[in-house]
Amino acid sequence: MRLVLMGPPGAGKGTQAKRLAEEFGLLHLSSGDIFRAERATGSELGKKLAEYMDAGELVPDDIVVDVMAKAMTDDGAEQGLLLDGFPRTVAQAEALDRELEKLSSPLDGVLVITADDDAIVQRITGRRSCPDCGRVYHMQFMPPAEDEQCDDCGTKLIQREDDTESVVRQRLDNYKRQTEPVIRYYRERSRASVVEVDGNPAPDEVTAALTQAVRKLSSQDESKA
Ligand code: AMP
Repeated sequence: MRLVLMGPPGAGKGTQAKRLAEEFGLLHLSSGDIFRAERATGSELGKKLAEYMDAGELVPDDIVVDVMAKAMTDDGAEQGLLLDGFPRTVAQAEALDRELEKLSSPLDGVLVITADDDAIVQRITGRRSCPDCGRVYHMQFMPPAEDEQCDDCGTKLIQREDDTESVVRQRLDNYKRQTEPVIRYYRERSRASVVEVDGNPAPDEVTAALTQAVRKLSSQDESKA
């Protein structure tokens, strides 16, 4: 199965994507995670990515498509794919369709997690992560036992450069202007089913709703085969 997971920043995409990928045995490709890993190498590409990311701007389409098309040829992609954070513009969605056509594997579904703007700002600005092991916390909803220290490895937690309130507002604005049209693209110009799930309830409830949606898509997929 090939799925796209969409939603505004802070809707819980990362957490939900990991859970869904595990449950359904899909390769999870997060464009944001792939870009952060590239930045960490200090490469020229990584430096270019950093300029856009720290300003809360979208990375240009040609760079994104290049990096993601490469990642999609990774081992494991043929057993199923969960794309998270990509595509974020209509041009990226069109490029993705072309890539999947080359692989003869069209998208089965697009899952959209929705959330209120104020809840998003509160979620994102409280988010901290461990630079060592990657574990994610929320200072209000999921705090570490010791102030700002990772429970697993004791490392001091950090806030992502783009998780401050002004950058979050900028990212939300980008989402409305550039990414919401992608949902319209899938509704109007693609055969993939679009399913919306409310991301405001507690994470476990959202996971249950998404799991149910994927099961339904998967049974439709089997009946088509
Ligand atoms: P995320 O972790 O998904 O919120 O992504 C972090 C940042 O990476 C975004 O604010 C963008 O600057 C960049 N980014 C991630 N995915 C994309 C994409 N598909 N298109 C353009 N920029 C992206």
